[in-house]
Amino acid sequence: MNRPQPKYFKNHLQTPIQYVKGVGPKLAKLLEKKGIETVEDGLYFLPRAYEDRRQLKKISELRAGKKETGFGEIMLSGMAFFQGRKKKVFEVLVGDGSGMITLKWFHGNERYLLERFKKGRKLIFSGEVRWFNYQKEIHHPDVEIVEGDIEEDYLNFKRIVPIYSETEGLYQRTLRRLMKNIVDGYSDELSSPIPVEIVERQDLINFSEAFRRVHFPPEGESIEKLNLQRSDGHRRIIFDEFFFLELGLALKKRGVALETGISFQTTGALAQKLLERLSFQLTGAQVRTLSEIVSDMEKPHPMNRLIQGDVGSGKTIVALLAGLRVVECGYQAAIMAPTEVLAEQHYLTIHRWVESLGVQVALLTSNIKGSEREEIYGRIRSGEVQIVIGTHAVIQEQVEFNHLGLAIIDEQHKFGVVQRGLLKKKGENPDVLVMTATPIPRTLAMTLYGDLDISLIDEMPPGRMPIETKVFPESGRSRVYGVVEEEVRKGRQVFIVYPLVEESEKLDLKDATQMAEHLQKEVFPEFRIGLLHGRMKSEEKEAIMMEFKEKKIEILVATTVIEVGIDIPNASVMVVEHAERFGLSQLHQLRGRIGRGQYRSKCILLAQYRSSEEARIRLRAMEQTNDGFKIAEQDLELRGPGDFFGIRQSGLPDFRVAHILRDTPILIEARKEAFRLIQEDPDLERPSHSVLKEVLRKRWRGRLEMAAIG
Ligand code: ADP
Ligand code: MG
Repeated sequence: MNRPQPKYFKNHLQTPIQYVKGVGPKLAKLLEKKGIETVEDGLYFLPRAYEDRRQLKKISELRAGKKETGFGEIMLSGMAFFQGRKKKVFEVLVGDGSGMITLKWFHGNERYLLERFKKGRKLIFSGEVRWFNYQKEIHHPDVEIVEGDIEEDYLNFKRIVPIYSETEGLYQRTLRRLMKNIVDGYSDELSSPIPVEIVERQDLINFSEAFRRVHFPPEGESIEKLNLQRSDGHRRIIFDEFFFLELGLALKKRGVALETGISFQTTGALAQKLLERLSFQLTGAQVRTLSEIVSDMEKPHPMNRLIQGDVGSGKTIVALLAGLRVVECGYQAAIMAPTEVLAEQHYLTIHRWVESLGVQVALLTSNIKGSEREEIYGRIRSGEVQIVIGTHAVIQEQVEFNHLGLAIIDEQHKFGVVQRGLLKKKGENPDVLVMTATPIPRTLAMTLYGDLDISLIDEMPPGRMPIETKVFPESGRSRVYGVVEEEVRKGRQVFIVYPLVEESEKLDLKDATQMAEHLQKEVFPEFRIGLLHGRMKSEEKEAIMMEFKEKKIEILVATTVIEVGIDIPNASVMVVEHAERFGLSQLHQLRGRIGRGQYRSKCILLAQYRSSEEARIRLRAMEQTNDGFKIAEQDLELRGPGDFFGIRQSGLPDFRVAHILRDTPILIEARKEAFRLIQEDPDLERPSHSVLKEVLRKRWRGRLEMAAIG
């Protein structure tokens, strides 16, 4: 019996990597660790960097302060001590007749290093050259042991050489040899059927050629561009990824626009009444957003709009005013919030606002049970309840609306695609309004939520005082208590927040509980301290929130149940315990709980000294800016786009090469072309476009329908 050979795979790109020349089961295992299972994965495994080895410099020519590449023979290697024998360093002395240089490793396994860097071996090294004690040295260089004659080796020398990301047991030369086999053998089979007009307009190179050039750049390529992933080859591959993303979004957007929806025609008298009763006036940004919403609602197609506005910018009232227009037309509105505490707060605020207008509001959370629940179901079904506010409970199967006209999703980033879709399905093509405080840059929002229209509330209500943010180490705790005491004495209120991390949930909860007790008994016996966490019963939670709102509690110790949405204008201090354990956006959300009234507020981040470098960057960013956009950009950079947008759960395809931040200009071009194409051929019916459909189906793997709504 013959083992299947590569040529029997119908689609050669799907050939398991194991069947590529020179790869056996052992190597295949190592490659699998890198996520390389098929030939196609291999082609997409792009170099992480490039080295200019067109002409190797002599060691004497290497300049300090520059990233350089050299070649030489190991004269000596071994462990040395410094700082009075306190620290060890592994040193390798390399010479080439013209001079010498020392390569240094400050950590690493000694036995392994000695074995790898034996005297007499030849090696290529590269890294930043420094001067130390009148000698050249490089710390933690990239190295490659050389065997054989470099004059004959055209793969590893005399060219711009690709550097791949390694794992133990899988080194540059092996990888390079393998990649060469893959690129030579299979790159011709890659295809990206972007129509020729677009290819010409965008000046794109051939797709297969792009892969050949990116892996093994031709002589004349710019090393700087390659290292920035800005070469023509990179651009072509990235364009392809973005183009098919945007083409999918363009199709979706068109699909929604074609559906028949409800055209809400009203004078907005009810909304006007509420406006007259409010103690404040809408900001310009709120007015603009509302008018964008109203014009969508009047159209006979479903609205699909995202309101983006930083914490505290006043999204709730805008959503409610939209809701009242729907109510006026005899329809129902639903508002779904991610936590019970937030749903309850919305209920209280909204109830207070609209009660005197004769509008019926109901709260629905999973904690409302039994006959009470049945009764609410009934009132929703009959249409008696006009505005339903709740958590996930609103999308349960038993909930039937009489006729839902507007579905509002608050803090949409906390919901999955499916849940958002389910709320929409409670009506017949209702209008959809999603809200978020995640202030991703507008161009990115446009492209990522490409099927949504976006309104931006980029103005804060007047009179807000800036929040001062400061990081304290544990040793500063008593000073923190000092601040807390001072503020409470002034009549303000304080949040103290504990993380709840899944792995240590029990411990964390214990921390929060004990802290509340400790504060009450030993630190602030004269103040009233409350505790709030997600495990408490609804009624308890409700009672505590109520007491805090009514200032019966001065200091609220809580877990992240209060992360989003909570609105207590009198609270002026937010203390975050273990701040190093929170993500940047989360910290910003928490900080958004204060500074909502006319008082100067303080955000205090208590952090452990031994935080990671990344944590320190996060904390510093919090100290430096209150601007949600800057925070989001930093967060996006730290976490990477996949995590940041929750791409996996958003239903968007993920990228193999493209990087949303780095490649935004390409993203914008790709979007323009994709949307133009859908405008010209809305259903991709032209024969020349049928292949596009196929690629779309493959890339989106059935997510095209599901990914509707953000
Ligand atoms: P978010 O956008 O974070 O959801 P909210 O809708 O909770 O913000 O509003 C924050 C606070 O600001 C609330 O107390 C709200 O009543 C108040 N608010 C909203 N709009 C205005 C305005 N135009 N002027 C003054 N206060 C406002
Ligand atoms: Mg809100």
